[in-house]
Amino acid sequence: MAVPITEAYTLGFIGAGKMAEAIARGVDKSGILPASRMRTAHRTLARRQAFSSFGVHVYESNIKVVEESEVIILSVKPQVVKEVLSELKPFLSKEKLLVSIAAGIRLNDLQEWTGHGRLIRVMTNTPSLVGMAASVICLGELATTEDEKFVSNLFGAVGKAWTAKEKLLDAVTGLSGSGPAYVYLAIEAMADGGVAAGLPRDLALCLASQTVLGAAAMTIESGKHPGQLKDEVTSPAGTTIAGIHVLEKNGFRGTIMGAVMAASKRSEELS
Ligand code: NAD
Repeated sequence: MAVPITEAYTLGFIGAGKMAEAIARGVDKSGILPASRMRTAHRTLARRQAFSSFGVHVYESNIKVVEESEVIILSVKPQVVKEVLSELKPFLSKEKLLVSIAAGIRLNDLQEWTGHGRLIRVMTNTPSLVGMAASVICLGELATTEDEKFVSNLFGAVGKAWTAKEKLLDAVTGLSGSGPAYVYLAIEAMADGGVAAGLPRDLALCLASQTVLGAAAMTIESGKHPGQLKDEVTSPAGTTIAGIHVLEKNGFRGTIMGAVMAASKRSEELS
């Protein structure tokens, strides 16, 4: 029987890198758990200081982090997950909930390497660094509904989180995992267009980024279909429909669909 996570739990990070720091800072800032209840370990001083500077306890070893934590976020690179878990296996048990954010490492493998199924796998993305991640949560065999709620809350502190079946994670990787890079390309291209049309570079970049942010917020907050929002801003013989015509002639939507599908396929090949 899995032990419920209490209010007084401690949260450990194995792998004190960029993602771990983003999650730790986001969770601390959100008020759901103070940094003083978080633990990590790292061999370099710079990473140790990055965590201790906002109140996380930094230890000498991963084992001590696991021993002292009820919930452990596995945030090392995928290539080292197996090796790290083989060292930690004797200290992991059903009393502890293990949450892996390692891209491409499946629940089955995690279960085999840890010896139990109280696991949750999460696919998040880099906007977690600014509290705007899109994360998807997949439950292992022994993870409880409470565990799910708990992890949704945790990742809700650095953005938004949804639960899905693991078989959808390659598609999630192709869409929200790789998606920020597609949008960076779009922002850069829009800014370049602005420069070509005579705008100073700084202003063009600010306008492009803010426009993407604004359009995303409109889609989320209005609840309207993006096609309807597009129709609402295209006046007859106007500027916007002239721009859209160029995008459609060049296969804009098909290209973006293709990018998501190619990245999903690549994720499938890699895992
Ligand atoms: P990172 O390189 O910044 O962090 C990993 C850290 O783990 C490093 O500081 C490294 O020194 C440390 N480490 C290596 N071996 C270790 C060991 N044996 N014990 C303890 N620590 C060890 O990487 P990141 O970008 O934070 O990514 C971490 C995980 O998050 C990866 O598995 C990645 O797949 C996943 N992820 C990253 C992103 C992203 O956009 N960066 C998005 C989704 C998921």
